[in-house]
Amino acid sequence: MPPKVLITKCDGCKAEKEPLCEQVCPGDLMTLGDNGKAICRDPRDCWDCMSCTKVCPQGAIETRVPYQIGYHGAKLIPMMGTNRVTWTSIDIDGKVERFIVKNRNEINDDDDEDDDD
Ligand code: SF4
Ligand code: SF4
Repeated sequence: MPPKVLITKCDGCKAEKEPLCEQVCPGDLMTLGDNGKAICRDPRDCWDCMSCTKVCPQGAIETRVPYQIGYHGAKLIPMMGTNRVTWTSIDIDGKVERFIVKNRNEINDDDDEDDDD
């Protein structure tokens, strides 16, 4: 599902030369609209990589879970750590679950420790 920008949270990345979500989108889909808020210019081309969701410093982009998995309104929200991403899943009944995934930094650190053995 294409990203959903929460316009009350998006500040247009005023401190950046180019909005961060625009910088990271591999499909060059994110841009700023006339209102200075981010938009996905062609949602049909979004392949749900979630890069824009993860990079947004304002937490202004939600990933909506596909209908077949979570029904309309279910969402995934990332919180980026140095070595891990904490994902919060909220289903349509408001049930919240959290799960933690290592990012590449921590996986690489694990590999380095293995090399030291
Ligand atoms: S990264 Fe977040 S705050 Fe920046 S323009 Fe995109 S949605 Fe808005
Ligand atoms: S989810 Fe990925 S492909 Fe889709 S708009 Fe965001 S960065 Fe681009």
